Amino acid sequence: MNRILILFAYVLIGWLVAHNLGRTRRLGFAGSFLFCLLLSPFLGFLITMAWSMANPKGCKWCGNTYNEAEYCGICGKNDAGQIWEGHRKK
Ligand SMILES: [Zn+2]
Repeated sequence: MNRILILFAYVLIGWLVAHNLGRTRRLGFAGSFLFCLLLSPFLGFLITMAWSMANPKGCKWCGNTYNEAEYCGICGKNDAGQIWEGHRKK
């Protein structure tokens, strides 16, 4: 009985990671769920979080379509056009 409960929790946690995080990544629900089942829900969670976003917000100033952070990694600007203090000019 306990084994069934542990297996159920294992699959449920993997499903939660894939459903809530995997769908927002390029990895998708199926890929995220597969990592959760084959490795473990925790490793699946880390891999899913490290995967790139399916719809990154991008940067309207330099056209960097892969930007996911508040400040763009290439031009260092946010949506309002303010430059991040730590950004180095090349
Ligand atoms: Zn930019």
